[in-house]
Amino acid sequence: MDNKCLKINEIYSTLIGEGDYAGLPCVIVRLSGCNLRCSYCDTKHAYDNGIEMTVGQVMRAVNKFRIAPVLITGGEPLLQSQVIELMESLIEQDNIVLLETNGSLPVKDVQGEVLTIMDIKCPSSGESEKNLYENIDFLTERDDIKFVLADREDYDWALGVIDEEGLEGYCHILMSPVYGKLNPRDLAQWMIDDGLIARMSLQLHKIIWDPDERGR
Ligand code: SF4
Repeated sequence: MDNKCLKINEIYSTLIGEGDYAGLPCVIVRLSGCNLRCSYCDTKHAYDNGIEMTVGQVMRAVNKFRIAPVLITGGEPLLQSQVIELMESLIEQDNIVLLETNGSLPVKDVQGEVLTIMDIKCPSSGESEKNLYENIDFLTERDDIKFVLADREDYDWALGVIDEEGLEGYCHILMSPVYGKLNPRDLAQWMIDDGLIARMSLQLHKIIWDPDERGR
């Protein structure tokens, strides 16, 4: 691949599905390629498929939507170094820029203006050994750390990490049940019982539209 290009899986408009900005119309820029293989992955179509685009071509595709918030996701966007230049261009033209990253690659080069939503992978993902905990030092109170939970074991494990890393009050904490695996009512009750300073994060697009539909 031309190292001046990004490999893009899809660009489309939707509502932000999760996190503090959930419900806000946005443009999704999904980059191809991922270095992990989470057990519950719902974006396998982004592992390989995609077309090469320059940063300028991506900007033109984004600007056609006339929507200011842009969510960069994957796959794993930080696998492609050109994503930093793309985010710089979006910041320069005053877009709100959000970045979803799986937490296994360094976030130190991500601009401070970008709202980062970083996963900490739980045991049921099969990828919890890949978490790069030093990334936490580069996040601020504007950023989100997201735990995707498949069962009570994941929940208890996440509580341990929140405690060990001192995450409560450090940045926003999102608790996201795996769709179809963990009942949100169970998670809600556990969070209430524990008085956790964290937010439940449901995948809005799966509630509004067909959960298997692409481009939503
Ligand atoms: S990090 Fe995301 S895209 Fe990659 S395997 Fe896990 S869920 Fe799928």
